[in-house]
Amino acid sequence: MDMRVGFGYDVHRLEEGQPFWLGGVRLEHHLGATGHSDADALIHAICDAMLGAANMRDIGHHFPDTDPTLRGIDSKILLQRTTELIAQKGYRVGNVDSTVCLQSPKIGPHIESMQQTLAGIMGLSPDEVSIKATTTERLGFVGREQGVAAYAVVLLTKEAQ
Ligand code: MG
Repeated sequence: MDMRVGFGYDVHRLEEGQPFWLGGVRLEHHLGATGHSDADALIHAICDAMLGAANMRDIGHHFPDTDPTLRGIDSKILLQRTTELIAQKGYRVGNVDSTVCLQSPKIGPHIESMQQTLAGIMGLSPDEVSIKATTTERLGFVGREQGVAAYAVVLLTKEAQ
């Protein structure tokens, strides 16, 4: 079996009164993430890791922030499309490991629902989608609650032809 690893990273700015989408789930919080799409940093990091593993450029190449049809788009659709893109090269996701860097709110109570949501889109079981979380001890832009960051590693597999 052919196996390839990929890495992804994403950041979105946090602003007062915006919806906060993370891992395909909406968090209740006074701050939310802003961007051209729904600004879901975790999904974007996972998409970039998938594309990186398949050596298919990055999320901005496939879904540019200059495309008006993508304004406000649900990132779950981008994850679905990315799953289809890697399938064109014969790949499917083996497993995902990710870390969200966020000072507040705590996302622990939402991790199971994020795992179920993302696994369903990628055709995986929730056990194959790991989501971890950390604060940055109030250091940096994450610690000042100015932004959310996410890192992801993805393993892709391809059955022998
Ligand atoms: Mg992004």
